[in-house]
Amino acid sequence: MDEIFDLMIIGGGPAGYTAALYGARAGLSVGLLEKLAPGGQMGTTDMVDNYPGFPEGVNGFELAMKMKAGAERFGAKTISAEAIALELSGDIKTLKTSRETYTARTVILATGAQPRELGLPGERELRGRGISYCATCDGMFYRGKTVAVVGGGNTAVADALYLSRICEKVYLIHRRDKLRAPQVQQQNLEKAGNVEFIWDSTVKELLSEQRLSGLIAENKHTLERRELRCDGVFVAVGQVPETGLFKGQVELDGSGYVVAGEDCRTSIPGVFAAGDLRAKPLRQIVTAASDGAVAATAAQEFLDM
Ligand code: NAP
Repeated sequence: MDEIFDLMIIGGGPAGYTAALYGARAGLSVGLLEKLAPGGQMGTTDMVDNYPGFPEGVNGFELAMKMKAGAERFGAKTISAEAIALELSGDIKTLKTSRETYTARTVILATGAQPRELGLPGERELRGRGISYCATCDGMFYRGKTVAVVGGGNTAVADALYLSRICEKVYLIHRRDKLRAPQVQQQNLEKAGNVEFIWDSTVKELLSEQRLSGLIAENKHTLERRELRCDGVFVAVGQVPETGLFKGQVELDGSGYVVAGEDCRTSIPGVFAAGDLRAKPLRQIVTAASDGAVAATAAQEFLDM
């Protein structure tokens, strides 16, 4: 492709599409690479309750489509392709994708994060046969059944609440006796009536025949092991950043997050990081959107220099 974009964004979650909106509204030519559906992790969230402006909450995919439409209204171009190799150091950055190679003067990295695995034997083999990382994607397969959710953060609690409306019974297995998610969320789960909390416990074993049939949870204080029969296990134990492609080019911290301050500037001039892949204290849709605005503005300033 001959066109050199002013700004190329990798990733179409809330950070990426907010950056696209700000970049395009500032008059930059903007391309956005998205390998799957828009929205990133937000796109698979049933109900987002804490993004301002939606008093009744909003479906994550619907919000993603609105963000995409908002950016495209000002001329941002979505390119459905996966970035597979990057050359970021020069004045003109090169982005090789599954379709073709693109060039840009500035780049915003907004590839987000992916669910972390439990790391148990059989976990990968049982994916799609009882193990899931996305309640809103797969919850319907477990209508009227018994499932377990592992984790104590916002994702685990949102998943457990969502599944409590579909499933007969939901176990919430958390390694401590206090949720990381806000207290009000625990009250919502208690109100559901069919959620049983398994505190201070970790999953030691996944049980299966043709597909997952249960798990063994161990209490970390008593070391008592309990077998829980269930049809599905929804793993919600945090995320790992999607930064493998940038390794060796952009500075990453010990956990693999891109090192970039509140101005979103990375270790490479003209390359910015926005959203969940950036090392920062709070990963929310609203902070991803905020990063997108900051990063696009920084890119514009860089181009004006
Ligand atoms: P998270 O906040 O990092 O929580 C991960 C949970 O999994 C924690 O409770 C953690 O336990 C537990 N955990 C981690 N590793 C584990 C392991 N190996 N075995 C068992 N348990 C393990 O992750 P998240 O819930 O996916 O959320 C990620 C970010 O997205 C957060 O900033 C969150 O606030 C945000 N988020 C926001 C919304 C929303 O606003 N609607 C929805 C979803 C996520 P400990 O508590 O003991 O560390």
